[in-house]
Amino acid sequence: MNRKFSAHSEKNLANIHPDLIRVVRRCLEISRDDFCVIEGLRSPERQKQLVREGLSQTQNSRHLTGHAVDIAPVVHGKIPWNHWQSFEVLADSMKKSAQELGINIIWGGDWKTFKDGVHFELEKTAITHNHTVTR
Ligand SMILES: [Zn+2]
Repeated sequence: MNRKFSAHSEKNLANIHPDLIRVVRRCLEISRDDFCVIEGLRSPERQKQLVREGLSQTQNSRHLTGHAVDIAPVVHGKIPWNHWQSFEVLADSMKKSAQELGINIIWGGDWKTFKDGVHFELEKTAITHNHTVTR
């Protein structure tokens, strides 16, 4: 498969932890559906806004530090928001990709409360210390 991220998706990968970028790029090679990166690094202002709107429940989101990305499948040119199964299929590919690379990730769709089907973050214990994420 020879897919490429859109310029928009690439922009959303800026300043994300390199391990998470590797997982996302490998996933693009193996996933059933194409997908896009809808959000990466988040400013504290935006995080506050999301909490106000009830779209996030924490002021300590890992988006603030570049350890989380939100990705969504693209099927026939659209994100199938009401088709959870497509998000599960994508999550399986992300997990497979992470496993191949020996990187531990967490899918927001596995959370018991406040399921977040687009959200993927690096497991805290898995973070290497030789990276250069701008903070
Ligand atoms: Zn997220």
